[in-house]
Parts: sequence; C-alpha cells; structure tokens
Amino acid sequence: MLNVSVKWDDSGFKNLESKIKKHAFDQVKSDVTQKIRRVRCPTHGSSASVRFTETSQGVTAHFTGCCDKVVELAKAATLK
Ligand SMILES: [Zn+2]
Repeated sequence: MLNVSVKWDDSGFKNLESKIKKHAFDQVKSDVTQKIRRVRCPTHGSSASVRFTETSQGVTAHFTGCCDKVVELAKAATLK
C-alpha cells in the first residue's frame, strides 16, 4: 500500500498554470505553422511566414510575405 499526498501551494499552481499555457501556445503555433505551409502567393510564388508574440492577452500571430495577397491567403488558411 502506497500513499502519496501532494500538497499544492501557490507556486505549484502557478507553475502548473504556466505549463498548461505553454503547451496551448505551442499547439497554436504548430497548428498555424502547418496551415500556412501550403500557402503560396499566386503572383510571386513565395510562401508566407508567421511570427508569434505572447502577451498577457494571449497569442498574436504576425504574418509576413511578399505582398498583401499572400498575407491575406495565410490569414484565411489559419481560419479554416
Ligand atoms: Zn506576392
């Protein structure tokens, strides 16, 4: 018989919370990156790229590409 008790203090909860957030952030990042991988600009044939910033409000994705068209396509692809 084994009895294990874990006492969660405030720092334990904060640590767990940040781990969950980190995991969710990584999921979003890889999901968005996957989705825009196929996007090519119909005019220039270049791909779009994405950069993420994490703020207290959540995650912001910044799309960059050769022109507005590819950025629009990349944004649209992430909403699918
Ligand atoms: Zn272009």
